Amino acid sequence: MFTISFIPAFKDNYIWLLTLGQRAAVVDPGDAAPVLARLEADGLRLESILITHHHADHQGGVAALLERWPAEVFAPASESITGCSRPLRGGETIEVLGQAVRVMAVPGHTLGHLAYLAPGALFCGDTLFGAGCGRLFEGSPAQMAASLDRLAALPEPTLVYCAHEYTEMNLRFALAVEPDNPDLRARVTLVAARRAAGLPSVPSTLAEEKATNPFLRCGEAAVIAAALQQAAPDRSKTAIFAALRAWRNNF
Ligand SMILES: [Zn+2]
Repeated sequence: MFTISFIPAFKDNYIWLLTLGQRAAVVDPGDAAPVLARLEADGLRLESILITHHHADHQGGVAALLERWPAEVFAPASESITGCSRPLRGGETIEVLGQAVRVMAVPGHTLGHLAYLAPGALFCGDTLFGAGCGRLFEGSPAQMAASLDRLAALPEPTLVYCAHEYTEMNLRFALAVEPDNPDLRARVTLVAARRAAGLPSVPSTLAEEKATNPFLRCGEAAVIAAALQQAAPDRSKTAIFAALRAWRNNF
């Protein structure tokens, strides 16, 4: 299994770097410069690029990386991705640095959005965040709720490698939804300490997300009650999710 580390990019993006010896792969390289610098500094050879979705802050660095390295580019078949050599729709198993990686279709943030599942490690782009989820730029609440359900069904120790450092902001919203959730209050303290020490808040585990992320808790009584106060029309999971997402958009 490869080792996972991060390359910070832009204001709050994480480009995940997978390495096995001197072999390397990256997930969502929105910017080439910090990736090229890290590959150079560590004497790594870039073999594979994994793209979760088409937004520029996730694929903007691909062209410049391909000028330097003849890497394979795994990406959503239904989205416009620079240099895509391995179009995917979800359901495939690909090989990354000798490791089998499962491809999952998780539409919602964008329609072709993919997640990549290696043993114990989920690279989910802008679908699931620490204590939050991505905005619905293209998909419907029903699609996103179903995508999050599929991710929530993965083993609880799975580490969630999302693409942005949004956790503190998301936790403020989560507390507004569930002020009495003790796991949530504990996570707020933990994440504040990590951020104050200059450390990333991610990866989290799916177990942590299921205990504290309101978007994975649309069946919990407290979350349902809060969403109904935000004018959710009924108690269905999709209605509760849609009300939470709309609330978060204006939070
Ligand atoms: Zn995005």
